[in-house]
Amino acid sequence: MKECIFCKIANKEIPATVIYEDNDILVFMDIGPIIKGHALVIPKKHYDPVTETPDEILTRLHLTAKRIAKAQMNGLGADGVNIMQNNGTAAGQEVPHIHIHVIPRFENDGHHWNWNAKTYENFDEMNELAENVRKQI
Ligand code: AMP
Ligand code: ZN
Repeated sequence: MKECIFCKIANKEIPATVIYEDNDILVFMDIGPIIKGHALVIPKKHYDPVTETPDEILTRLHLTAKRIAKAQMNGLGADGVNIMQNNGTAAGQEVPHIHIHVIPRFENDGHHWNWNAKTYENFDEMNELAENVRKQI
């Protein structure tokens, strides 16, 4: 993808602070960290969104995210880690090249997700939505 910023990073056309790479995967520091140390795990080849990404690549991305999480805990002294992956602008995705955020978390780091939990009208409403998804699996 010619105009994709993460393809450019993968091709070394624009710089990034790389943490890890192999033939297929690249991990680099997010330039706008939620918490300092925030890293991104990407495939070097362009895929997007998660539903169009081959299982083997997705598996490797997630296994790499696990390794980075461990390295952030051991190397940065993180107390916890958020691992997240956005798909589509509705979900807050800004760069349309699949990537996994690995965000080190520290007790009292001051960050709070805006996790605004809702309630269902009743169990029927919840079950109807569940059924719509269940049918598609
Ligand atoms: P998302 O909203 O899930 O698409 O996340 C995109 C992430 O990419 C954001 O956290 C940005 O800070 C990060 N980002 C965008 N451009 C760069 C870049 N050139 N180098 C490193 N991180 C970047
Ligand atoms: Zn790309």
